[in-house]
Amino acid sequence: MPKAESTWEVRVGLAAKEFYLGGWESALSRVRDQILPEFTRESVATFETQLIRAGCPGRGASATVAPFRCRRCGATTGFRRRGRRSRQLRTRLGRLELQLAMVGCRCGHRFAPLLATLGVEAHARCAPGLMRRALELCTEQPYRKVAKALQREAGTTLSERSLRRLVRSAAARVHLSWQRRDLGPVRALLVDGTRVRAGAKSADPHDRGLELNIAVALRGRDHSGRRSAARLELVGATLGRRWKALVPALRGAAASPIAVSDGDLGIVALLNRALPGVPQQICTFHLRDSIDHRLWGDRMPFRARRALARAVGNAVEFAVDADSADRAVAAFVAMAERHGWRNTLAHLRQIGPQHLTTWLHIDPSGELEHTTSLIERLMREVNRRVDPVGVRWSRAGADAIVRLLLARRFDHPHWRRLCHDRGPATAWAELRLCQ
Ligand SMILES: [Zn+2]
Repeated sequence: MPKAESTWEVRVGLAAKEFYLGGWESALSRVRDQILPEFTRESVATFETQLIRAGCPGRGASATVAPFRCRRCGATTGFRRRGRRSRQLRTRLGRLELQLAMVGCRCGHRFAPLLATLGVEAHARCAPGLMRRALELCTEQPYRKVAKALQREAGTTLSERSLRRLVRSAAARVHLSWQRRDLGPVRALLVDGTRVRAGAKSADPHDRGLELNIAVALRGRDHSGRRSAARLELVGATLGRRWKALVPALRGAAASPIAVSDGDLGIVALLNRALPGVPQQICTFHLRDSIDHRLWGDRMPFRARRALARAVGNAVEFAVDADSADRAVAAFVAMAERHGWRNTLAHLRQIGPQHLTTWLHIDPSGELEHTTSLIERLMREVNRRVDPVGVRWSRAGADAIVRLLLARRFDHPHWRRLCHDRGPATAWAELRLCQ
């Protein structure tokens, strides 16, 4: 195992005019800020010495395979030392001034092997750990605040502009509309949409921005904690695109026993096309709202329609079995026909009343998922970041942040591979007091 150890003599001074140490905490913490980058630079440089020695054994020595490879031609032997080049690197431990050892490859390429060892991408000024941290913060708060937070945490700043650029280039490597092949067994597929205030402003006063469409798979529930937690995976998401853009992604959840949505025509068409074999369920939670809304269109007074919508919703959601749920739905359809509630009837015809009780027909125990409420919480998280009052995001800006936010939230494989900041490295320190 390659190991780099550097031994230091560290002097830490503490002084005050009188015997009163006012402000000692901030004074000493400034010392920490000076020491850490220095230690980091030195231990990395010591490691580099071994790295170069292993890759360029020098004339006369037998040719060995280097622990690095040429990025241009892929060679792993035949490297020569080629001087040093200074390079600044921003890291979570502060700004490092590196004197990188360069090597030359037979193909003519000259490069610094240490950078790849550190997981630093070609031409990047940021170390992977700082990059990950910046991206994490960007999914949580405005760029302006992120810049300040990084200054506090890592003693190095990235301008708002660099943060925005970082987010865009990272998001370009996160593809949430691609099919995932790693989903494994799925207990339910949930599909829902919302809108985020982004994109060019139109003259339409009802313009509510771009459509965010999300499909999530319920993998199961974790009952180990005090409350049971749903284990969710992101199946796919798109911003400002039609529902059919999710067709490839949805195919990743083809093994799902049920697909739940609010019955939106676009989603139903999407499910029919992508997963024709998966039974569909209309969200029983949405049902009350949508019935209430249609009854309002049929001019039923507030109190009556609220009570009726509730009663129908409850009769379906808490039915003892599929038959009694079907009977409740049939009774409501008959009621709507008798009273001539045209809006309500049109809605029922559109969603297909048989899709209200699918879950009970598949599994009479009623344990199958039949609402999309798990997605709603997710939508609120997205909106908290993208929809602050008075801000209108550009389409590209919102798309980038939504991708990263969702990818991070679900620890999507594309998020995991975004920065090379995980691995087996360990570090240790030991200070000995010389008296
Ligand atoms: Zn080469």
